[in-house]
Amino acid sequence: MRTLMWFRNDLRVEDNPALHAARRSGTDGMLAVFVFSPRQWREHDMADIRAEFVRRCVAELSEQLAEREIALRILTIDRFADVPAAIAGLAREHGCDEVHANAEYEVNEVRRDEAVAARLETDGRGLRLHHEQCIRPPGTVRTGGGGFYSVFTPFKRNVLAQLRTDGLPEVLPAVRRQAAMLGRPDPVPATVPGFEAPPAAMVSLWPAGAAEARRRLDRFVAARITGYAEARDLAAEDATSRLSPYLAVGAISVRRCLRAAVDADGGRIEGGSAGIATWISELLWRDFYRHVMVGWPRVSMGRAFKPETEKVSWSCDEAAFDAWREGRTGFPIVDAGMRQLLAEGWMHNRLRMITAMFLSKDLLIDWRWGERHFMRHLVDGDLASNNGGWQWSASTGTDAQPYFRVFNPTTQGRRFDADGAFIRRFVPELASLDARRIHVPGAHGLFAPGDYPRPVVDHAVARDRAIAAFKQLA
Ligand code: FAD
Repeated sequence: MRTLMWFRNDLRVEDNPALHAARRSGTDGMLAVFVFSPRQWREHDMADIRAEFVRRCVAELSEQLAEREIALRILTIDRFADVPAAIAGLAREHGCDEVHANAEYEVNEVRRDEAVAARLETDGRGLRLHHEQCIRPPGTVRTGGGGFYSVFTPFKRNVLAQLRTDGLPEVLPAVRRQAAMLGRPDPVPATVPGFEAPPAAMVSLWPAGAAEARRRLDRFVAARITGYAEARDLAAEDATSRLSPYLAVGAISVRRCLRAAVDADGGRIEGGSAGIATWISELLWRDFYRHVMVGWPRVSMGRAFKPETEKVSWSCDEAAFDAWREGRTGFPIVDAGMRQLLAEGWMHNRLRMITAMFLSKDLLIDWRWGERHFMRHLVDGDLASNNGGWQWSASTGTDAQPYFRVFNPTTQGRRFDADGAFIRRFVPELASLDARRIHVPGAHGLFAPGDYPRPVVDHAVARDRAIAAFKQLA
């Protein structure tokens, strides 16, 4: 039998269930394919930096596959609607009986795969989907009543209980070389059509590929994981793994990350180092939001998890939205976070929470505007995690922050950037201010230096307005 491996967000040769299955079943040879879908990606608000990151990861993957005598074909098919014909055509051209891929869970991706399966079937071929994105595949973690969890803590408890009983999921070794190459690899395009080239300084922050992902994981586990619980919220510290882009494109598997964390804790899944347990918990938040997306597909269709919150009368203040996007709100910690996003294509998790809460509560702007802006700029843009984070912050989601707990941005700044180092890095106009003044540059009759703006809202007033808007729904 001949097989075709279709790579999507699983750009690696190690611990890749679909790739291993294609290799195993392809007794008469296998080849691989990656499909660039620029127009569809744009419609999904993919950031330039993420498209470029994908492109570079595909280039690295192609080399890794060639070393194993597996050819990676590259197709550019603008829209998902045209993918079934292209995949079926490639399978026919090379006489592949089966196409293997790892499941994706977003609605458009699910529909695309259904159409591909139907198209292949008419040719007497099959699409075999595998699960690789989560520690436990969506659907395997259920409440007593058989439903999906909408609250994180019992979800996590259930997963940990499964891991205690069944052991850690297997991490598959790199796929074996085949005897001879089927087909020839295509050159990887120098740019992704329809996407702008991101600034070189931003690109250099995110070296591509599985080897880099592994290096980051090893460095993080060796040096920072045990201190993670205390330091992860401190904005200026390099205390987190910065693995999110690599997990988002599948340059590393979440099971490999879990295994590294558990090994670092002497084989314990819990009850050991607080830092390691907290990091595992974050990996499980990622799983949780994927399970939620499968359980409630409306969240990947622009709908609130809590339907009643669709009735919030959001503000359409475009000038305030622009100030937020550009980091000109007059709240230094918010502006520093938003400018980090524009400079790095990435934002610290605490800052994502602060800036998302600020948009949806202080500015009372629809969280979907912010969700889209983040997707358009994040190198790790991921529908499930981004949507989950936004709906948490906006109090519209699963296990969300209650609407009456509105972050005070100034207090958040003082807590998580006490000496102002993070603000100074991203808001240079404020660099000369001391640790006390930097969080309130315009307070007490003092004027902020340079062109730094005055606050766009009075937080106390804005907070009351947001609470009132949510209270009305009750
Ligand atoms: P670490 O702290 O080292 O954590 C390890 C991994 O766990 C991360 O790489 C990530 O895959 C996962 N993780 C950590 N925290 C979370 C979380 N709260 N929710 C889900 N997964 C988590 N993450 C994305 O990967 N893509 C997004 O588009 C995204 N958008 C977000 C939007 C908002 C409004 C918020 C509040 C959070 C968002 N997150 C998103 C989650 C989180 O901010 C990032 O995963 C994290 O900052 C990445 O940094 P790191 O790799 O150093 O994480």
